[in-house]
Amino acid sequence: MCGIVGYVGGQDAVPVLLEGLHRLEYRGYDSAGIAVRTKTALRVHKSEGRIQQLEAKLPARLRGTTGIAHTRWATHGEPSDRNAHPHVDCESVLAVVHNGIIENGTALRAELEAAGHTLRSETDSEVLAHLIEAAEGDSLEARVRRALARVEGTYGLLVIDRASPDRIVAARNGSPVVLGVGDKEMFVASDVAALVRHTDRVVYLDDREVASIRPGGFSTTTLDAKPTTKTPSPVAVTDEAYERGEHPHFMHKEIHEQPEAVERALRGRLDRDFGVAHLGGLNLSARDLLDVRRIKLLGCGSAFYAGLAGAHMLERLTRIPTDAEPASEFRYRCPVIEKDTLYIAISQSGETADTLAAVREVRRKGGRVLGIVNAVGSTIARECDGGIYMHAGPEVAVASTKAFTCTLVCLALLAIHLGRIRDLSPSDGKRLLGALERLPGQIREILDRGEAIRGIARGIMKRQDAFFIGRAAGYAVALEGAQKLKEISYIHAEAYPASELKHGPLALVSAKTPTVAILPDDDLYEKSLSSIEEIRARRGPVIAIAHDDDSRVREAADDVIVVPRSEPVLDSILMTVPTQLLAYECAVGLGRDVDQPRNLAKSVTVE
Ligand code: GLU
Repeated sequence: MCGIVGYVGGQDAVPVLLEGLHRLEYRGYDSAGIAVRTKTALRVHKSEGRIQQLEAKLPARLRGTTGIAHTRWATHGEPSDRNAHPHVDCESVLAVVHNGIIENGTALRAELEAAGHTLRSETDSEVLAHLIEAAEGDSLEARVRRALARVEGTYGLLVIDRASPDRIVAARNGSPVVLGVGDKEMFVASDVAALVRHTDRVVYLDDREVASIRPGGFSTTTLDAKPTTKTPSPVAVTDEAYERGEHPHFMHKEIHEQPEAVERALRGRLDRDFGVAHLGGLNLSARDLLDVRRIKLLGCGSAFYAGLAGAHMLERLTRIPTDAEPASEFRYRCPVIEKDTLYIAISQSGETADTLAAVREVRRKGGRVLGIVNAVGSTIARECDGGIYMHAGPEVAVASTKAFTCTLVCLALLAIHLGRIRDLSPSDGKRLLGALERLPGQIREILDRGEAIRGIARGIMKRQDAFFIGRAAGYAVALEGAQKLKEISYIHAEAYPASELKHGPLALVSAKTPTVAILPDDDLYEKSLSSIEEIRARRGPVIAIAHDDDSRVREAADDVIVVPRSEPVLDSILMTVPTQLLAYECAVGLGRDVDQPRNLAKSVTVE
């Protein structure tokens, strides 16, 4: 959430910063700004709205070799020119960009104003500029450290100062900051996405660390000025992975990349001879895993829904009691941590603040936690005891698609791995691995039905409300489908377990409320058909996502989207894909900003 980028070196910083902002726009897009140290002064330009609006405002002659920039996702103060970052001190000699929340911002603001400072915005972030202005120290980094000693909250922070040419000071607590090491130039950003065009050597700052960045290199210390040692690590992701290519939207690209993404998630992890999955990063022996008595999955938004679907897989294949909980709630309810429970944190970015806090809470209380994470080297990946990388490739669209399916693939692999340590037979293991290997081809078959799904979406997009229903893991698919439709088309959508319809929501069913029914051909099939009958009896249109379009389904539903048959335990993976396409087509049909929906942003690094 929120993009920050900085450059110091021999090039003109302005195009580097603007290009970096475009790369990070998916992390926040309500306003943007840039501060550049020119030969004579510190110049700051900001604009409400998208980065193009900022670009249109910039003077053509703006040049400088040191600069910082920001694309905002507002937490304190409305999106406006005034509240856009960078923020400056009273004399406009230093500028800051900030990602995170300053929790004691109100008290610090009152104190600064009482001391004579004039704050010009409503943001919590601006207090940082004035705290640094007021702080004493013989260098910019010393003043930043001193100022931050007063701060409670989270920050990914960059600071430049007119008096310190060729220098950026960066600091991190809770919000990611990554340095990119170049040749006599340095880059810094909140996400490697902004760095991969320039360098493949990066350094992740740790919490409560401050970096002084110069063209020739960098040094780091803790907040209390103790030097730390950091070694650059390589990034494997290429610049092209962040390109939209021929696709009209990143979401379209990412939906259509799912066959390859799933292949990558499976690569090197299947042992067909023994029917087991190899998961090198778990850091838990078979003996450790035998002691597991309970599994708890933690995630937020789509990651939570993936956890709900995964809980069914894990419980079915391992017979270990498993449940999923929103990490954002778990962290605050003083959870009981048991030593024979295996905790699993799910996060695409690996930076989700609520999930990270849940991981820390588990570990603080002596629990073991695995991460299922897409971004290699991210904070959650580093802080967990072990984990499984999704290998989905960068996901840029705010609405998660390929990371959702790859999470389910990783959870299926884990379920097979754990199951084979317990009661799952070699032949069952082999059968399940075979089914996993068929998934990429089966997803392609669903994607080939895109045209028909677009036709069905035309019926939904005329409506203001929709229901999604399913049973067991199908309910998790329904939740994810409803979420996707809400997020990007702004059609109000609610998900219910099919069995719950008659306990309340049926009151709202009418000819104007389409219902998407997740209808796998499993042991609950007949019961799900009955739920559909109840909707049809109230004239509610039904779209079934089913394995067959035989006469019974045709009779029960107005439209049927057929998905190939797999192992029932993997149905949630294939059944999700049509819901992604339905949401996408509705959003496009309604002219929505598919990749950057209102009020949302990718990688939720604030609470
Ligand atoms: N809390 C800050 C603000 O509202 C930073 C938000 C962000 O991370 O973009 O301006």
